[in-house]
Amino acid sequence: MYVFKHAFELKNYLSSARQAGKSIGFVPTMGALHDGHLQLIAQARQHTDLVVCSIFVNPTQFNDPKDYEKYPSTIAQDTEKLVAAGNNVLFLPAVAEMYPEGLASTSQYDFGYLETLLEGSYRPGHFQGVGRVMHKLLKMIMPHQVFMGQKDFQQCMIVKRLLEITGLPAQLVISPTTREASGLAMSSRNMRLSAEERQTATLIYQVLTYITQHRSDIDYAPVVAEATRRLVAGGFVPDYVAIADAATLLPITGAIPGKQVALIAAKLGEVRLIDNVVY
Ligand code: AMP
Repeated sequence: MYVFKHAFELKNYLSSARQAGKSIGFVPTMGALHDGHLQLIAQARQHTDLVVCSIFVNPTQFNDPKDYEKYPSTIAQDTEKLVAAGNNVLFLPAVAEMYPEGLASTSQYDFGYLETLLEGSYRPGHFQGVGRVMHKLLKMIMPHQVFMGQKDFQQCMIVKRLLEITGLPAQLVISPTTREASGLAMSSRNMRLSAEERQTATLIYQVLTYITQHRSDIDYAPVVAEATRRLVAGGFVPDYVAIADAATLLPITGAIPGKQVALIAAKLGEVRLIDNVVY
């Protein structure tokens, strides 16, 4: 596996590969890799000739400085995992490499209502930061396909919109959420949970499953109230429990004919967890 820390080296390498007719798959991550990330690498290997994984803890997408400081970093283990998974290129830029212009915002993307809903309303500026770093990475790598996880449902919609706004030709491929046997969605932030909290955290998936069992209800208000009550009883401080149209992410108050998505964001101690189920 090649490891590049500088964009010019990465671009040189990729332009030769492109000239040799290779298709490029891209898996953006913030590291502390787990099986969910490795699933994306496997998907990328299936669909493209050359897989580029980036590890970059992007400061501009953290609205909470504590969350940024405490974000886990396990580069040595990540590198081993990527080699074992057959990843071809690891891009490992420093903050100054990605933001030579400084961190203060220079661009504003029009993500419309997507930016003020759910994650957007609880994490102001988050999606502008995601847009900014993804735009830079996509321009550097110019992948044919980019592989992302449904775990971050709203982020996938934002990146889809970013691709439309920028006209970059990459195709977005979304993979299902990889879970522990307990149902807990794999997440780098799970490393910050104690053994006991990890057990409690399984409640999120149980509550999402409870919501899906009420798929055909005409009124979702009591379902959301009960789901919230269960989370609070389990020791969570929920930011939101939401049921939305999976095509638009707009809230719905009762059953609709198309796909729906139930989403939860909740804090357990200091750790904020998110998860969703499409049904
Ligand atoms: P992160 O490193 O958390 O920024 O995630 C990098 C990519 O991995 C994003 O596209 C995430 O949606 C995806 N991802 C994170 N956790 C999971 C998971 N449990 N299953 C599938 N994809 C995931």
